[in-house]
Amino acid sequence: MAIVTSKEMFRKAYDGGYAIGAFNVNNMEIVQGITEAAIELRAPLILQVSKGARNYAKHVYLMKLIEAAVADAEQTAGFDLPIVVHLDHGDSFELCKSCIDGGFSSVMIDRSGLPFEENIAITKQVVEYAHDHGVVVEAELGTLAGVEDEVNVSAEDSSYTRPEDVQEFVERTGCDSLAIAIGTSHGAYKFTAAQCTRDPETGKLVPPPLRFDILDEVAQRLPGFPIVLHGSSSVPQEFVDIINQYGGKMPDAVGIPEEQLRQAARGAVCKINIDSDLRLALTASIRKHFGDHPEHFDPRQYLTPGRAAIKAMVEHKLINVLGCDGKA
Ligand SMILES: [Zn+2]
Repeated sequence: MAIVTSKEMFRKAYDGGYAIGAFNVNNMEIVQGITEAAIELRAPLILQVSKGARNYAKHVYLMKLIEAAVADAEQTAGFDLPIVVHLDHGDSFELCKSCIDGGFSSVMIDRSGLPFEENIAITKQVVEYAHDHGVVVEAELGTLAGVEDEVNVSAEDSSYTRPEDVQEFVERTGCDSLAIAIGTSHGAYKFTAAQCTRDPETGKLVPPPLRFDILDEVAQRLPGFPIVLHGSSSVPQEFVDIINQYGGKMPDAVGIPEEQLRQAARGAVCKINIDSDLRLALTASIRKHFGDHPEHFDPRQYLTPGRAAIKAMVEHKLINVLGCDGKA
């Protein structure tokens, strides 16, 4: 089985009231930390690669690392770990085609910043090529705010998905899943202080709640159709605190509360993207390590606990946020 598409995964997730975690990968330690968690918990997995990750590590390295993870699961755990290899935020037909030709089983075409008809046209073009090659396509309607690699949308330019548009978009494009905007946001600084309230006791920012009314209406109009949430890191305060304690500077970093993500996963949301939380877990661990061991300079000394921090964070997500443990 090994590298698969998300078709079967999403069908089971929809019916089972859980979601699959889609984690962004950039290097070996991140791939290993995530897949070790998925193997231990028998969780189906989506590993996704952004355009920026591909520029950083090269397509072939990331593909071979993921293939190695599949082989390792089989050899060391005797487990046929189902992994989807997905392009995150493809911005052109050529990029999507290159990933399809290079062995990915899923691609996203995100031209949600374009007018409706133009978004439909390019999405349809990608869907036709992908389906001819046995690959599935995620599209996006509505625009998320925030910063993720080369995607950068200001709060003013963001917009919620209009539920009345989704049926026509899905029917005319033939896409297999749809990312919608219901108030999640990319990055570790998802909301400005002005958009939030402040907890009077801790002084921490409390973000505005997700628009479940939009999600419910989308689900009513597209029964059984898998919905995707981007920008869904919860930016755990413990990581931010460690980073700040050990010389970092991340004031007012705030994410999506995990109980809201869990609620979304019980409904039509079948894929939840997590990237910032991986970065935070790894960075917090490395900063702490150097704080405690300023004499260390061997990358294995700080990347070993870094990888373990990623694994622990992913395990927590698989069980408490996604609910997909034991589903592979
Ligand atoms: Zn995204």
